[in-house]
Amino acid sequence: GQCRTVCPTGAIVIKNENDKVWEVIHDEKKRVVAQIAPAVRVALGEEFGFKPGEITIGKIVAALKRIGFDEVYDTSFGADMTVIEESNEFMEKFKEGKGLPLFTSCCPAWVKFAENKYPDMVGNISTCKSPQQMFGSALKEYFKDKDKREGKETVVVSIMPCTAKKAEAAREEFEHDGIREVDIVITTQELAFLIKEAGIMFEKLEEESFDMPFGLVSGSGVIFGSTGGVTEAVITRLLKDKPDHTTKDIMFKDVRGMENIKEAIFDVGGIEVRLAVVHGLKNVNELIKQIESGERSYHFVEVMACPGGCISGGGQPVVYKEKDVRSSRANGLYKLDRMSQIKSSEENPLVASLFEGILKDRHDLLHVDRKSNK
Ligand code: SF4
Repeated sequence: GQCRTVCPTGAIVIKNENDKVWEVIHDEKKRVVAQIAPAVRVALGEEFGFKPGEITIGKIVAALKRIGFDEVYDTSFGADMTVIEESNEFMEKFKEGKGLPLFTSCCPAWVKFAENKYPDMVGNISTCKSPQQMFGSALKEYFKDKDKREGKETVVVSIMPCTAKKAEAAREEFEHDGIREVDIVITTQELAFLIKEAGIMFEKLEEESFDMPFGLVSGSGVIFGSTGGVTEAVITRLLKDKPDHTTKDIMFKDVRGMENIKEAIFDVGGIEVRLAVVHGLKNVNELIKQIESGERSYHFVEVMACPGGCISGGGQPVVYKEKDVRSSRANGLYKLDRMSQIKSSEENPLVASLFEGILKDRHDLLHVDRKSNK
């Protein structure tokens, strides 16, 4: 990722992916659907003179519409789905006392790292697909009948903060009967290039909102883009019956911030729950060693390969004053969370109706079998 400023082939990669986007946009038989990851909305603006952390999501949606996308949705919707599935999985394992700690699965660079370096840990990684893949498979299922009726083919284009998401979308287990869950992945930087290529004056665009039904998301789904976000979402769900300030105390004191390894220890129904949040592969290595030696012990571990989480992914605009930019971007996401009318993932009525409708009993669309991927 970070090599793009010095790597001469970087430009070619950018061009190739964007060419694929233009190709499907110009094909009348294709329904081109975008999903935008949370971290993109607090960083893309930097390419057009906005400050780090400034929220430009309305302009991003407007730009994608001008480029010719048929539907523009929010990957935070996929994150809401993931939170529900992952906290269910966690609660089950917690009750059984088996397969712990449960590691998160939303960062493909971490999953790959574990497969290569800690194959014995792979069985402890959540079976949940990442928000990108969960949402991709739900979108393909949602448009299946409509596509047939209209003689179209749905193409899912993700806009992601990192190139690891390209490798994830290309993995074998995310294709069923010749249909990929996510067809094209472009990074935040590539989208900036696409917007410039289209001659759009980004700064001047009137803001637009996401399309429905997948544009309605919770604050929990949005903060997925920062380190600690997945854990916050799971805590919000675990402590849903506790007063608001208890949950907020844990978030602000233990889960937010840029420390290398953070931990939150609290009580649910008289039982102590131990959660850890780690970001940056160097710190991940250290934490796993401490878990293996018994020095630390947890029930749940959130892992993000990039320092700070997806907000500083390798596909984001390059940052020079790393720390400030990271916190500004994270604060942008927390601001969106505060402004959001739906706080927790399970309060998202559209996710609930999807789970009761086309996704009912479709475990296959939402999970992968990690053990067989070893
Ligand atoms: Fe990609 Fe980094 Fe986010 Fe992992 S933490 S999904 S590598 S941006």
